[in-house]
Amino acid sequence: MKDLAHIYELEKLLQDTYNEAARSAKESGRYAIGSVCAMIPEPLLNLDGCFSVRLRAPGTGSLEMGTYYMTSIMCECARAILERALEGGYGYLDCIFAPDACAQMNRCVENIDKLKLCDNGRFFVTYADVPMKSDETALRHYVRQMKQYVLEPLHERLGIDTSDAALAEAVKRQNRLNRLIMEIGAYRREEKPRITGYEFAVLCLSTFVCPKEYMIPILEETLDELRGREPDAAGPYRARVVMAGSEIDDPDFIRLTEEAGAFVAADCYCLGSYPERTPIPFDEKEDALTQICRHYMEQGQCPRFMNTEKIRQRHQYVDALAKEYKADGIIYQQIKFCDYWGYERAYASEVMRGEYGYPVLSIDRPYTAGNAGQLRTRVQAFVESIEIKRLGKKGS
Ligand code: SF4
Ligand code: SF4
Repeated sequence: MKDLAHIYELEKLLQDTYNEAARSAKESGRYAIGSVCAMIPEPLLNLDGCFSVRLRAPGTGSLEMGTYYMTSIMCECARAILERALEGGYGYLDCIFAPDACAQMNRCVENIDKLKLCDNGRFFVTYADVPMKSDETALRHYVRQMKQYVLEPLHERLGIDTSDAALAEAVKRQNRLNRLIMEIGAYRREEKPRITGYEFAVLCLSTFVCPKEYMIPILEETLDELRGREPDAAGPYRARVVMAGSEIDDPDFIRLTEEAGAFVAADCYCLGSYPERTPIPFDEKEDALTQICRHYMEQGQCPRFMNTEKIRQRHQYVDALAKEYKADGIIYQQIKFCDYWGYERAYASEVMRGEYGYPVLSIDRPYTAGNAGQLRTRVQAFVESIEIKRLGKKGS
């Protein structure tokens, strides 16, 4: 297929922790808000006057300094982000809002704060408690925490308008972007998809690290382009998979998977499209913050949610995606030493295999795709096993 017009530009942006789009937003006087987890709703961080950037560490090599401060048994993602901060990669941030969701990431943020790695005279950090259950009591607590640890500091320290009207405007913008991503991603359902999982991952990830107004026209043009794009006559893929698990902030993992023969038809991980890019239901009947928090709480698929309904919901969610995107199997991946996904990957792999009948590949992986050569072999073997199963079905 012909290259998508914006793909090269976005690949280039993704190589940098302070990309051109963020740089120009900052130079125009807006505040750069660092975000480290899906549990702080993005519309709160993208009110007029500020924009959010999800922290990542592209092109990570050594983790020596991050490991020195955090020890080698901490998640590689948290260590890589600290390493990048120690190198000065996030000096432009005005604040970081961290939820008490992942303790390892919070240790990373604490180090960034205590070591004054973003010391621009204004920088501050807050930590908010976020729900582990999904019910009305948890929702009320979530709303209070977001008020106290996100909206109030934004207003008091940076002068941001955090009124209901301002929040409604931010949701509108977010939903415009979310719908575009979902429409683009829907082309992955086609038998001969006109977009690769890798291309989609580049587009989707860019929406987390660039200001929304920068991305919306790019997504609109890409959607137009896709409407007329001819898929390759014979796709190179031998199987279709749902990619689930811990956050993926490097599209090269998706590329590597597809090069090994598995088309990534749907994604269910942080910094992907499900659940983070599902549009936020919104009306005038209830205050904006409650509606936003409800959506993030109900849609969240993080293993931090530990009540039985949410545990079951995670499996049903992946099953529904597999059906909708016609997947032959599921890949559960987890960044090394991630506690949450360590247990969820093991448990969900068994459930999806045993109760739902999917072939499942379950892997832990290094943070960077460059160190994941073994993954290619594992995916190839997985694809072959799916093909054998398919042949067996035909023969019986
Ligand atoms: S997996 Fe959970 S804790 Fe980790 S970034 Fe996503 S929402 Fe946050
Ligand atoms: S991969 Fe797991 S341990 Fe690492 S930052 Fe994300 S949720 Fe935390």
